[in-house]
Amino acid sequence: MPLSPSQFPVLVVGAGIMGTGIAQVAAQAGHPVRLFDMREGAASEARVRLAATLEGLAARGKMTPEAAEATMERIRPIGSLAEAADARLVVEAIVERIDAKRELFRQIEDIVAADAVLASNTSSISITAMANGLKRPGRLVGMHFFNPVPLMRLVEVVSGLATDAAVAEAVFRLSQAWGKVPVHARSTPGFIVNRIARPYYAETLALLQERAAEPHVLDACLRGAGFRMGPCELMDLIGHDTNFAVTASVYEANFQDKRYVPSLVQREMVDGGLLGRKSGRGFYTYPAGPPALPALPAERPLTARRVVVHGLGGVADMLEQALRPALASLGLAPLRQRDSGWTGLEIDGGRLMLTEGAAAYEIAAATGVADLAVFDRPPLPPAADGRALAYAVHSGAGSAWREQAPEWLRRLGFLPLPVADTPGLVVARTLAMLINEAADAVLQGVCTPDAADAAMKLGVNYPAGPFEWLRGWSVVGVAAVIDALDAAYRGERYRLSPWLRRGGDGPTL
Ligand code: NAD
Repeated sequence: MPLSPSQFPVLVVGAGIMGTGIAQVAAQAGHPVRLFDMREGAASEARVRLAATLEGLAARGKMTPEAAEATMERIRPIGSLAEAADARLVVEAIVERIDAKRELFRQIEDIVAADAVLASNTSSISITAMANGLKRPGRLVGMHFFNPVPLMRLVEVVSGLATDAAVAEAVFRLSQAWGKVPVHARSTPGFIVNRIARPYYAETLALLQERAAEPHVLDACLRGAGFRMGPCELMDLIGHDTNFAVTASVYEANFQDKRYVPSLVQREMVDGGLLGRKSGRGFYTYPAGPPALPALPAERPLTARRVVVHGLGGVADMLEQALRPALASLGLAPLRQRDSGWTGLEIDGGRLMLTEGAAAYEIAAATGVADLAVFDRPPLPPAADGRALAYAVHSGAGSAWREQAPEWLRRLGFLPLPVADTPGLVVARTLAMLINEAADAVLQGVCTPDAADAAMKLGVNYPAGPFEWLRGWSVVGVAAVIDALDAAYRGERYRLSPWLRRGGDGPTL
């Protein structure tokens, strides 16, 4: 019979940001909690802070005063680990150093019962390595919470080589009982979230390095795709020192795989002390924050005699639908050609094309069409509400086309933002690389596609999971963008995952 929470004491070691949050969540779920910190007084101070937090929650009606009081009664700061000999679960949230964590678990092993579970909240240290040297390495598991612990629902349950499946499963179920959404992960650098998220920053940093657009423009494009925060404002919030350290640790842990090379742009900001919000300046200056987007030129009349919507699929359907009012004003109806091999609009011979990876200059060279512009991957389902959308006009286009191309995008319901003529523009390249990283994680048995989707939505608030994006796009489409990036930049970063190369998981996608 499973033990009730009141019979299942939890020891939390480390009364910092994470430990305090974990203690709160465990106590709210009904467990007696012992809280230990090596700094004298730290556990008691954390308990006082927590009491104030819970009082605040009760005052705002988020929990009853009785529940707040009962939660606090369950949390007991302790002055020595020996006072927690009855703990059934130990969650460690101390300093991020393997020697300190190993030493702590070695001590705890001799204090708690042989079948108590040992969990680490590490964000970057190998669970396999941490377990090495323990008497019972099978009972050590990662229990990776996200900050702030009471609000973030994701828990990565991380198994090292020695972790018993039953231990991982027990922590998975316990996390569910605590109101969390756990996902299983294998102990590999960055686990799920910190690994798959790397390209969200890396692609924007690469675009910044070649000065393809300014930070606030790139942020607007990714917000237009549904992300809550653009990469630049997010890095400013996280702190460039922290973000750079995570990138560097994933890079080093992968034997300097070029796919994860940190960015010189970010390195320079760290070196210069431009750490983001906390230092008053990062990509933006605070408290002012991002500057306003460039004003659009005044609306211009559309000129067209013949407009054809090319392509199959959701984006072409959306274009056809969104185009009708603009065409009606010209006394036209959209024609449709589904078998042309590209998606977009043909306007009197000019082409406004959805990016498939190639830059406008490459397509112009291959087709001989000079009046050509490429636009970014719009959000699907369509959101005709003036969302930012990156585009680039071919440098050899005529002056009339330079004005008409963004005007058509505006009439389709977007806020067109010009960026340099780079492969895969902004959103398509970022999504393709996020999908690619997730595909490699699945290939390597780090997690399932469903776990990757849940982890990215709950751990970093992505609007959709990588495999959900893939379902709304196609393996061939993602591969085309990555191959185009690879052809343009060479090197190892744009290396298509073999999982995608072979077509994904077939029918499950
Ligand atoms: P923190 O600095 O706020 O707290 C760490 C606490 O541990 C401090 O109070 C310190 O006195 C105590 N401590 C250090 N060494 C100890 C030891 N040997 N024994 C007992 N207590 C010790 O740190 P944090 O942000 O809460 O992070 C803790 C752990 O959680 C780290 O492993 C970190 O990587 C991980 N983590 C952090 C976040 C985050 O966003 N902060 C997110 C997920 C995971």
